[in-house]
Amino acid sequence: MRAVRRSIHGIETCQLAPDSPSLHAGETLVRVRTRSASICQTDMALARLGALPFTLGHEFAGLLDDGTPVGVEPLAPCGRCRFCLRNDYHFCEKGHAMVLGIGRNGGMAEEVLVPKRGIVPLPSSLDVRNACLIEPLSVHLHALVLARLDGRHRVCVVGANRTGFGLLGGAAALDRGCEVDLDERAPHALEAAERIGLGLRPSELYDLVIEADGSEESIAKAAERCTPGGTVLLVAGYYTEFKQFRMLPFVAKELTVVFGTYYGHHAAGRDADGAAALLARRPEIAAAVISHRFPLDAAREAFALVESDTPSLKVVLEP
Ligand SMILES: [Zn+2]
Ligand SMILES: [Zn+2]
Repeated sequence: MRAVRRSIHGIETCQLAPDSPSLHAGETLVRVRTRSASICQTDMALARLGALPFTLGHEFAGLLDDGTPVGVEPLAPCGRCRFCLRNDYHFCEKGHAMVLGIGRNGGMAEEVLVPKRGIVPLPSSLDVRNACLIEPLSVHLHALVLARLDGRHRVCVVGANRTGFGLLGGAAALDRGCEVDLDERAPHALEAAERIGLGLRPSELYDLVIEADGSEESIAKAAERCTPGGTVLLVAGYYTEFKQFRMLPFVAKELTVVFGTYYGHHAAGRDADGAAALLARRPEIAAAVISHRFPLDAAREAFALVESDTPSLKVVLEP
């Protein structure tokens, strides 16, 4: 089967033998034939590390052997450690080794073995070609719980011009009844934000600012946009070392900083199921956020597009 790897030559679509269940003793696995797999900032950061011994792709959806379309929560927690036993399985002691596409084979392939517990049933109105967005949207649903978002809060999104990630956060806050503005100049991001229903003219200060870029400049902007006593939600991948991080704006306004990176289970249920329901209810989200689709064989071109200055949002591979 074909699968996307980071080899010594860079991003490549290679020919590999399908995974064997014997590699994952103790797990109940099901085969998913991928129909959509999207590229995230984490994939770009992984690709910069050099050759990797696993198939990329933690944002994906596909078909079961009987043809049922499904989404995927790409985690394979142990089920036995103290975190798993209290249903905080996203903190499982296996760490990132449990994440498909980050510590073991992921979904940028014709097929992938997925722990049965991670299968996400799709509402009938959610197209499997868009269901790769379940994973990044789950990150935001989880983060907004951590940030104690309330429908009365005014929310601003900063750093949303790459991979469409921040726009998903805006859409999630909007769905929770908040007024949400985008602070961004890139025309392609503004156009997508308008389709989702985000405000495009940020004004004054906000109770919650979602930072989705990961750069020092964007974090500084988030602090600037935040009201005294407000919350800055850091949900991007923070893969570069900060050289001159300015703490003072956070101190002077007594800001609360909340980090979000995973997703899991809350009182309202599993984040991934909430994300599937939201994408089904609001089809304009996927329509606005997915900017490009490439065949699996063109993975190298797809990654090059995300890396380049050519405007793009979510770039999806379709095996
Ligand atoms: Zn991701
Ligand atoms: Zn565990």
